[in-house]
Amino acid sequence: MLGRNHVIVGLGLYLAADYALGTGGPRSDLVNCLTAAALGSLTPDLDSPHSYLGRRLWPVSRTVSAWARHRGPTHSLLACLLVGLGVAAGSKMYPGWSPYFIAFAIGYVSHLLADWCTTEGVPLLWPNNKRFRSPLNFRTGGMVENLFSLALGSGLGYWFYQSFR
Ligand SMILES: [Zn+2]
Repeated sequence: MLGRNHVIVGLGLYLAADYALGTGGPRSDLVNCLTAAALGSLTPDLDSPHSYLGRRLWPVSRTVSAWARHRGPTHSLLACLLVGLGVAAGSKMYPGWSPYFIAFAIGYVSHLLADWCTTEGVPLLWPNNKRFRSPLNFRTGGMVENLFSLALGSGLGYWFYQSFR
């Protein structure tokens, strides 16, 4: 899935989780939480120097891509576990930042969920390289992905308009 579409899915999943579970802090923190969710939604693709975040943080992405192929360990359940442990440790050290750490983790998980919906799939059980994908899947950057992201992005835009006007 393309970077901009990962951000849209990450924001959508964060807002849905926040609504359902009340993960966020005070409403004034929403923009910070959304920023953290957007960052989390782009982070797994730091394994590619050609990704949106990989181009901007090229020293990191070149280092990661030197030892891990694209859609490798950063797209696994093990990575989600490590992110979860990071959230727990970060929240213990900086309790006031807990909503941001959680938002980052939700964004991260949204990335794997979105890539799981693509034809290429993701190696959820890495180091086993078998890739898993949704029974209903679509090509990365194809029409289905862009139409879905346009619809979700429009819905989010409407929600923002209604919430902040
Ligand atoms: Zn990815």
